[in-house]
Amino acid sequence: MAKILMVNVPYSGHTNPTLPLAKRLVERGHQVTYINAPEWKERIEATGALFVPYMDYPEGLPERQQMVRCFKAAYNTAMEVGAGHDLLIYEMFFYLGKTVAERLGIPAVRQFSQLAWTKVGTGLIPLLFVISCHLLGTQVLKRRVAIELGVKDKRLVDSVLHDKIPLNIVYLPERFHPCRQDLDETYVFCIPLLEPVAQPVDTDRRIPYEKMARPVIYISIGTILSSRFFYKRCIKAFGNKECSVILNTGKVRPETLGKIPPNIWAYSFVPQLEVLQHADLFITHGGMNSVNEAMYHGVPMLAMPIMNDQPINAEQVVRLKLGKKLRMLSTAEALYKQAMAVLNNREIKEECKKMKDEMKSGIALDDVIDMIEACLL
Ligand code: UDP
Repeated sequence: MAKILMVNVPYSGHTNPTLPLAKRLVERGHQVTYINAPEWKERIEATGALFVPYMDYPEGLPERQQMVRCFKAAYNTAMEVGAGHDLLIYEMFFYLGKTVAERLGIPAVRQFSQLAWTKVGTGLIPLLFVISCHLLGTQVLKRRVAIELGVKDKRLVDSVLHDKIPLNIVYLPERFHPCRQDLDETYVFCIPLLEPVAQPVDTDRRIPYEKMARPVIYISIGTILSSRFFYKRCIKAFGNKECSVILNTGKVRPETLGKIPPNIWAYSFVPQLEVLQHADLFITHGGMNSVNEAMYHGVPMLAMPIMNDQPINAEQVVRLKLGKKLRMLSTAEALYKQAMAVLNNREIKEECKKMKDEMKSGIALDDVIDMIEACLL
């Protein structure tokens, strides 16, 4: 039995895919301590791991400020509780992970909840994403903080690209990764275990799938973005048409969207893995988790990327014929037309089925845990 420390930033896209690993490590008899923001307590404890909240991390800060603060809080907490652990497992966005492991004198394993970055400027990491990561990096480690932590040479983008880690777990099918040839044998592609380990479910608002006429279209632009204009456009596009729509309105409360036609069911949070089991089409922003989850359930996609890695994920969806893409600002008419084009495309359906079968037979989490155990000193 080993004592394993996991540390992460508090975003669904970065934390969700790491929970099955925590759960499986615990089932294999390891003692897992998982550091994250307080709001992750319940979901992390459901994996059997010991949850340790960030120290010195005030709740209720504006989102951007929270994002900046979480890195230092995660770093300080890991340094505080890390002694005595045998291994550190961190997610790529917590780019101070390698430094933490070096200072604790223990080996490290890195997880990628999105495409593993290779080189900048190949189209793999869109320039805007690089700029926004640079900006975030300079805010996270302002000179004073960097000196205080003793990490003044750490840059977010450079660290993700160049910090050499002996084992990097990438949670996506290998075939999906562009520039695969740029990644060496330390990168292992693992099919994400998409069990709803601890997806919160609002039991008072059970989704009435049995009332929904097919095709069922699920629309979501993830947990970080939300747009009242987009949701209204969706209502205009699909309202009173021959389809049913589950509209995920994120931070916008559904009741503020005006009258919603009877073929549209709007929620500000849904158990996405469950919803995808009922969906014929997923209109998505192209977040890596959402794309993985759609592939896992064989659901064709209409990707409407906005930022970060979403454009490149959308490219891959199109390249692998798993769906089509559309500009976020397209009209309601274009949205409806393109949605129907995906729904009626036989080749897309077949490729989605192929990918679904492939995902059931890829490298499984248990094989990856064997590799993790081999990293233990
Ligand atoms: N998610 C969910 N319910 C929601 C919205 C999102 O369970 O109502 C989950 C979704 O299943 C996925 C994650 O949140 O695992 C979103 O990650 P993604 O990378 O797709 O997008 P992000 O939120 O990071 O932009």
